[in-house]
Amino acid sequence: MMTESKEIKLIDEEGRRVDGRRPDELRPIRIEAGVLEKSDGSAYIEVGRTKIFAAVFGPREVHPKHLELPDRAVLNCRYHMASFSVDERKPLGMTRREIELSKVLREALETVVFLEEFPRTMIDVFVEVIQADGGTRTAGITAASLALADAGIPMSDLIAATAVGKVAGTLVLDINDIEDKYGEADMPVAMTPRRNSIVLLQLNGRMTSEELKKALEMASQGIKKIYQLQIEALKKRYSVVSLEE
Ligand code: UDP
Repeated sequence: MMTESKEIKLIDEEGRRVDGRRPDELRPIRIEAGVLEKSDGSAYIEVGRTKIFAAVFGPREVHPKHLELPDRAVLNCRYHMASFSVDERKPLGMTRREIELSKVLREALETVVFLEEFPRTMIDVFVEVIQADGGTRTAGITAASLALADAGIPMSDLIAATAVGKVAGTLVLDINDIEDKYGEADMPVAMTPRRNSIVLLQLNGRMTSEELKKALEMASQGIKKIYQLQIEALKKRYSVVSLEE
């Protein structure tokens, strides 16, 4: 790993990353709400080269019926990567990784959705990765929470997320695929920005406890910026156009 990091030069002499970013810089991010017509709510997110759609249906009748819960809605979440979203051929069906990430996304989203307001119903959340270049789970959660809001589902907060990595000994915000592959650590974080609580935290690799603290602080700063973009996307979607203009 170390030799590969050196060959690829994850941080150059000026402290810049493979794509020219500073360590605490996010990739260019574009977020839009209400982009699909057939779903009740939807969102699109671009984080650098990572591109994802999220679509929400419901609350609607539960299928199959035996999954119905008497006291709350079922949140059904499906994270899926299009087979053309990655370099190598991806199997058409759901891989183990996709099944696991569907659960990870659901558990994060369940912390903010008022499911008890819709007993005996189902809310379906589809996260479709169109192009993957690192950070699909975090961008997927960010888009999914916006799509839920766009569908008018009552929530205590939005969720925004990013990953902090460690490359060539340096902590970096919002790692891309190369940094993820050749770096020393990858830590996806999702937060509810208004309440400032963490709803997803994973760490692959190694960090000292000081680095972990700093990484969380970096993630939190990035998440605040992503949250602003979510709010702007909602405002743009629901801004009232004056008829007199
Ligand atoms: N990736 C890939 N093929 C796969 C799974 C992942 O090429 O089957 C790439 C993709 O760019 C993804 C990155 O590896 O974004 C990192 O994957 P990881 O499992 O860490 O999840 P992510 O960072 O996307 O949440």
